[in-house]
Amino acid sequence: MNKNELEQAKKRKTFRKLGFAFLIPGIILMGVGMFSFFISFDNFEAPQFFFLTFIGMPFTFLGSVFLGFGYMKSYASYTSKELRPIAKDNINYIVEGTKESIGDLLHEVKTDKIKCSSCGENNDKDAKFCDNCGKALVKVCRYCHEENENDAKYCKSCGKDIE
Ligand SMILES: [Zn+2]
Ligand SMILES: [Zn+2]
Repeated sequence: MNKNELEQAKKRKTFRKLGFAFLIPGIILMGVGMFSFFISFDNFEAPQFFFLTFIGMPFTFLGSVFLGFGYMKSYASYTSKELRPIAKDNINYIVEGTKESIGDLLHEVKTDKIKCSSCGENNDKDAKFCDNCGKALVKVCRYCHEENENDAKYCKSCGKDIE
């Protein structure tokens, strides 16, 4: 290992340390924020600590960028040209990940899912069969063929008894 490589190895080590130093508190902050967000729905309160998520986000981002540097095989071949797409990937990854998890959360809360009467699985609102046990989630009216919820007693379209 020549002097230059040693220097790089040292740098990578520093980046790795920095990476974890940012990433871990970032994830914790985001976790606490998300947790508060979730809990608030049960208590019908405003999410008190949700803002922590937004503090945690840049930490998590910086941490992953530093870790990216730290775990690169060769720092020397890492020109500014190559740096941009990787940094961008990191941003995309985090933005996408955050969007997805928040989206999932909102989706869970907003859409009234259909609970399977057979196994209790929560299925998408427009699902026709349970994605866990395969039981039909809709009751098709035998008079007008309208799709009714599985626990419907009377057809919502023609009003006939479909029990
Ligand atoms: Zn089921
Ligand atoms: Zn009907």
